Amino acid sequence: MNDESGLPRIVVTFGTRPEAIKMFPVVAALRETGRFDVKVVVTAQHRELLDSVLDLAGLRPDLDLDLMQPSQSLDALSARILTRFGEALDALKPDRVLVHGDTLTTMMATLACYFRRIPVGHVEAGLRSGDIYSPWPEEVNRKVTGAVADLHFAPTATAATALSAENVAESSIHITGNTVIDALMFAQARVAADPTLAPTIAPLKARFAGKRIIAVTAHRRENFGAGMEQIALALQTLAARDDVAIIYPLHPNPNVVSVMRPALAGHDNIALIEPLDYLDFVAMMAACDIVLTDSGGIQEEAPSLGKPVLVMRDTTERPEGVAAGTAKLVGADAAVIVAQTTRLLDDPGDYEAMAKAHNPYGDGTASRRIAHILTSACRCK
Ligand code: UDP
Repeated sequence: MNDESGLPRIVVTFGTRPEAIKMFPVVAALRETGRFDVKVVVTAQHRELLDSVLDLAGLRPDLDLDLMQPSQSLDALSARILTRFGEALDALKPDRVLVHGDTLTTMMATLACYFRRIPVGHVEAGLRSGDIYSPWPEEVNRKVTGAVADLHFAPTATAATALSAENVAESSIHITGNTVIDALMFAQARVAADPTLAPTIAPLKARFAGKRIIAVTAHRRENFGAGMEQIALALQTLAARDDVAIIYPLHPNPNVVSVMRPALAGHDNIALIEPLDYLDFVAMMAACDIVLTDSGGIQEEAPSLGKPVLVMRDTTERPEGVAAGTAKLVGADAAVIVAQTTRLLDDPGDYEAMAKAHNPYGDGTASRRIAHILTSACRCK
């Protein structure tokens, strides 16, 4: 329902750190148009990690469902999101909802909209690995959302093609670029203007001066257990080199911490640190030589910064970086991770071949494109 202003009401919802990073530019762009009554509803599927991005973006949620619970199961979290987000819809009566990406928040919020016949726009639509168990459960979260949404904001032509292959109506698919590049450019400009906004990375750069810096993140469900142990082993081996330093912001998930802390803490060449605020994280990517990650968003950010990315997964729903030669799949296998990283460290030709800045994921205007498309689409039903 439109508010007193008569403007169509759009509810933008998200729950995790990467979603917040990729959606705050969209909220800003929608508000800039002056054409919508925009409400932000956060599920807070990740509490602390989400809050740090909300602070950076100066974004105050209109409704905070605060659904995070320790060791939450996928079933219990899904059920809570569905019920509580449904109640939020009944209270806010939006004309349209915007969801992002591939989380449980994305899928369950979409289902709650479907049950009420509220149209859904899907930001970062069409990414597919082709394997419903990798990334798990994200591949299916994204597919279910795509089956319901009536507007699909595909970041790349590859993503748009994947949607067409699933018989999604061409007229509902829009190639916009990925809003992560909008966020990255915002963050880079902020840190460039004021380096004190990256307070963790500045001293680490000084501590590791003269060494090759490897930035690491690992948190994927498929890597819990044996995969995490393999990654830890690889990092121990790489950190044994005098010319290498590792900066590793540790994801707070107990499945990560319980393996990584005992294996890596106290090593001279490894800075095992708390999750970084986004500006610090962008500063770390800019300062490093190589990125080792199993993350999705970082596969998009690092190529834009000209950093080679070794992806510690067997599949990726972001093939553009691999196709362009800036990303390589290395799995969660210690021997392969060490071999591929060592090649990059020791062979300048290999390094140069991968370390080329390119940007298949967007030009920093994706959010404005999305706002523009919604302006045309939103009468809103
Ligand atoms: N990120 C951050 N601080 C960290 C680790 C990651 O700000 O300590 C940012 C990173 O720049 C990227 C996003 O969080 O934009 C990626 O989140 P994550 O790897 O948790 O999730 P995924 O992208 O795999 O869904």
